[in-house]
Amino acid sequence: MKITHHLDDATLMSCSAGSQPEALAAVVSSHLSVCPRCRLELKRHALIGEVLFEALKPEPVSGEVPQAGARAETISAPADDGGLPAALQAALHGRFDDVPWRRAAPGVWHCPIELSPGAKGDLRLLKVAPGIKLPEHGHGGSELTLVLDGAYSDEFGTFRRGDVADLGDDVEHRPVADPEHGCICLAASDARPRFKGMFARLLQPLAGL
Ligand SMILES: [Zn+2]
Repeated sequence: MKITHHLDDATLMSCSAGSQPEALAAVVSSHLSVCPRCRLELKRHALIGEVLFEALKPEPVSGEVPQAGARAETISAPADDGGLPAALQAALHGRFDDVPWRRAAPGVWHCPIELSPGAKGDLRLLKVAPGIKLPEHGHGGSELTLVLDGAYSDEFGTFRRGDVADLGDDVEHRPVADPEHGCICLAASDARPRFKGMFARLLQPLAGL
């Protein structure tokens, strides 16, 4: 797997601080499980955090060796499947036929992943048929999309298996699924994406996006 699109610094920093909303954290940990580069970056952020934390401590605990990076180790370990919803577990292991896909629009299927009670945001699997263009849309908050199979292209390049699109506020894009393989991805947002245009208005009530 050759990964060319990674998590950005702000995302790694909030991951390191443990302050990420549940939906985004699910995509982050999935990407980390396949990306040594981001695991290393996360460790670097966690080390900086440890150093700052140590500097702020009024009295260091004597005799205790600080376990720098221990937290990063915990975060970066490949996701434990124990608590994952079955559909997500199946998708992360490439068993895409086991996912209970719902048709959202012609050539587009989705499978919402339930979050903990009270958690804000949106986490869902998306399957887009070969060559299908999604409507141009923007994002009200942060959004992370991890490609699990196939590929898609947009204004920011081509995203293949393992690549993550780390989109911030007010970014607009119009993804097109790979003409041969289509695209299956895991998408999370801390707010619901808002679609633009005619087709978008048709798609939105269907997709629940
Ligand atoms: Zn990465």
